[in-house]
Amino acid sequence: MLYEPTIGLEVHVQLNTKSKIFCSCSTDFGAPANTHVCPVCLGLPGSLPLLNLEAVKKTVLAGLALHCEIPRHSKFDRKNYFYPDLPKGYQISQYDKPLCRFGFLEIPLNHGTKKIGITRIHLEEDAGKLVHSQDTSSRISYVDYNRAGIPLMEIVSEPDIASSDEAFSYLGELKQILQYLDVSDCNMEEGSLRCDVNISIKKKGSTQHGTKVEIKNINSFRAVKMAIEFEINRQSKILSQGKQIIQETRLWNPDLKTTIRMRSKEDADDYRYFPEPDLPAIVLEEALINTLRSQIPELPRMRKIRFMREFSLTENDAKVLTSVKALADYFEEMIAEGVPPKRASSWIQSELLGKIDNPKNIASFPVTAKKLAWLLVLIEKGIISGKIAKTVFTAMIESGKDAECIIEEQGIVLVSDPGQIEQIVESVIEKNAESVDNYRSGKEKALQFLVGQIMKESKGQASPRMAHEILIKKLR
Ligand SMILES: [Zn+2]
Repeated sequence: MLYEPTIGLEVHVQLNTKSKIFCSCSTDFGAPANTHVCPVCLGLPGSLPLLNLEAVKKTVLAGLALHCEIPRHSKFDRKNYFYPDLPKGYQISQYDKPLCRFGFLEIPLNHGTKKIGITRIHLEEDAGKLVHSQDTSSRISYVDYNRAGIPLMEIVSEPDIASSDEAFSYLGELKQILQYLDVSDCNMEEGSLRCDVNISIKKKGSTQHGTKVEIKNINSFRAVKMAIEFEINRQSKILSQGKQIIQETRLWNPDLKTTIRMRSKEDADDYRYFPEPDLPAIVLEEALINTLRSQIPELPRMRKIRFMREFSLTENDAKVLTSVKALADYFEEMIAEGVPPKRASSWIQSELLGKIDNPKNIASFPVTAKKLAWLLVLIEKGIISGKIAKTVFTAMIESGKDAECIIEEQGIVLVSDPGQIEQIVESVIEKNAESVDNYRSGKEKALQFLVGQIMKESKGQASPRMAHEILIKKLR
């Protein structure tokens, strides 16, 4: 390609505080329109905002995890513009003194990692939501102010991103960290995480940046990737025809998979920012910053590396297990109960994950880590076979009962009477003379086959360990 892109991302994240940023209205998603509102978030005359400390704490926590500098002094500003979803005619945001600045996020690439700079993280209030009438002839739009005043954290990256893949990777890493920190649920379908892309292209090797275009309204990470690829193409075509790129804001159209011109891009000057007179400046005590720093948990990338080292897991297994904090916690709890890491990992991936809609909800899964661990320890001890364990597991999910309880209730009698197993072993040896010869001539694999036949003949009820021991004795 003749041109190379320069990409920066602006990520808006709704914080998961219980109440809004400047009033005590609920932030719950999905309530009937305009039921979570009050004079403050409706911007009625005479009402005054009161800052929610939780929102500040969550923003600073995110900043610390992203290696940001946290200035002691910060303040809010008014960003003035008119739009029907903005009842006051201005948005309370932060302009020149954000809560966090100069951080970075390390993203994995095919070979090694890359640091993407974080310019700033600031806190602001979300706007309401326009709901357009389904009836296109009516030209009516409704407005729901439930969302107005939900705390919104904006994370602005440096233009360090050089491809759609890097942008994708940045968003994935960022989302995981924010979820680990429990500052947001990052649910894109519900709009808790929204992303705008700033992109320009320049001749390869040139130091002069091209004209920047902003793309809004992108509703998934995949769409971010597609929008970037589309823009690189569109801008390259314009430049190679000798024409100029116009500085503008474009919208991503998910149906047509194209970007469409929305408006010419405003500059900061257009918003007439000035300090918010109704809120005092913020002074962050060193002690609060230190307390927050101590609350940062082990983050996903470090946890993945530790899982690989400590439990000898493959990179892919460690990646799946650490993708969600609750899942990684579940895995480690099983290990603490004495389950070998490889068995815990493969059970979680092949048996458990298929049975829950979202790993984030594992805390409400009827089989706790301890209960699953006890079940797997029974296999380890040779008390039940893996096959029976799967049946018991399904029953545990349905009833919420312990493994022992189900084994007793369902009358899963394990054959651990040596005499009975001996009979089965003898019959298997008789029927599989060829495998027996193979084993005796040094083919270890034949032994596995014979154990399998014993388990089959006992309908999975023989103690696998005992079957193994008796078989070896008989084959000597
Ligand atoms: Zn309110």
